[in-house]
Amino acid sequence: MTDTIATLDLERELATQSPHRIMRYALENYENIAISFSGAEDVALVDMASRIRPDVQVFCLDTGRLHAETYQFIEQVRKHYGINIDILSPDGDAVRKLVSEKGLFSFYEDTHKECCGIRKIAPLRKKLLEVDAWITGQRKDQSPGTRSDIPVIQDDQAFAREGESLTKFNPLANWSSEEVWAYIRAYEVPYNPLHDRGFISIGCEPCTKPVGPGQHEREGRWWWEEATKKECGLHASNIG
Ligand code: SF4
Repeated sequence: MTDTIATLDLERELATQSPHRIMRYALENYENIAISFSGAEDVALVDMASRIRPDVQVFCLDTGRLHAETYQFIEQVRKHYGINIDILSPDGDAVRKLVSEKGLFSFYEDTHKECCGIRKIAPLRKKLLEVDAWITGQRKDQSPGTRSDIPVIQDDQAFAREGESLTKFNPLANWSSEEVWAYIRAYEVPYNPLHDRGFISIGCEPCTKPVGPGQHEREGRWWWEEATKKECGLHASNIG
C-alpha cells in the first residue's frame, strides 16, 4: 500500500519510464491488481501485461449497451491470450428501474450521468473493493479538456476501501494515439474492427460515433454534452 505522498514521489520517478516499465513495476509490486479493459485500443495493456504475468487479472464493464463488435472482440481477446476476463454486469434492479421510469435513451435528455452511474460506476466500485491496484488505458491526448494532466500512477481516493489506499496506474498516459497504434501493429495485437470504421474512442453503442478527419476522438463520445463533462465517472479525478 502507498500513501499519497509516496505515490507522488513514485510518479516523478515513473513518469519518464516507458509503458512497459510502468506495467512491469505495477505487476511486480502489486499481487492483487487488475486491468480495466474497455474493448478498444487499451488491448495494448492486456498484451503488455500478458507478457509479464500471463495470468493477469482483467475485467470489463459490460454495460449491456456495447456494440456487437465489442462483445465479439472481448471474446477474441479472451481466447487469444488464454485469460479469464471478469465481465462485470450492472445491477439488474437498478437498470430495470431506470429504463422503466425514463426509457432506454434517457441520457440524450438528462445527460449520461445517471445511466453511466448505474451501468459503469457502481459495478466498477464493487470490483475495485476487491483489489489493491488497477491499471487503465487513459492517455493525456484522449481529452484535452479532462485528461491533459493524468499521471502514470495516482492514489485513487474515489474508489479506495474505507481507510485504505487504492493505487491506479495509467501506463499509457504519456503515449500518443499513434504510439499505441504503432505498438498494436508491431506486436500484431488483435483490435476492435470498429477502429477501421472511423471509431477512435469506443464506448457504448448509443453514446459513441465515428469521427471525421480533423475531429478530436472525444467528439465522438456524448456529443450532445459539453467537452469538459465528457467523463463517465470511472476517472472521477479528471473532472475538476
Ligand atoms: S455510455 Fe451511454 S449507454 Fe453507456 S452507460 Fe453511459 S450513458 Fe449509458
